[in-house]
Amino acid sequence: MDCIFCRIIAGEIPAQRVFEDEHTLAFMDINPVSEGHLLVIPKTHVARLFDADPQLLTHTIHTVQRMAKALQTALGVRNLNLLQNNGKAAFQSVDHLHFHLIPRREGDGIGFGWRLVPGDQEVIRQAALRISGVLQQS
Ligand code: AMP
Ligand code: ZN
Repeated sequence: MDCIFCRIIAGEIPAQRVFEDEHTLAFMDINPVSEGHLLVIPKTHVARLFDADPQLLTHTIHTVQRMAKALQTALGVRNLNLLQNNGKAAFQSVDHLHFHLIPRREGDGIGFGWRLVPGDQEVIRQAALRISGVLQQS
């Protein structure tokens, strides 16, 4: 499979690995948004959140928390964005599920491109109804 993250897991491509266990791997992002920017991935290939096994997600989010605490201790990180992109329109560039841990500092000027604009309450209500409807059937 031509997946760059699977190749990192296999050791075929170098990466600054900081942690691994049976199910997960954490390594430094090669294009860091801020100092300490880490990626956490499951070792089993899955492209997106929609398709991920819940057990795999449990392992992955535990590693995410462990890495957050490591950033806290190692780099004094107190503010952190956890980002997980799914699909091209959501800026996913690598099709292997991954969580970004992005340390934030006061006044760092980093933005993620959306503004807080109040939504149309009726549009919000209709979306909520449709989602709730699906959840009641599952
Ligand atoms: P996304 O846009 O959410 O798919 O993010 C993919 C991330 O993977 C980007 O932040 C890239 O900088 C990072 N990335 C891609 N290739 C590598 C690599 N070989 N080693 C470390 N990080 C990588
Ligand atoms: Zn992969």
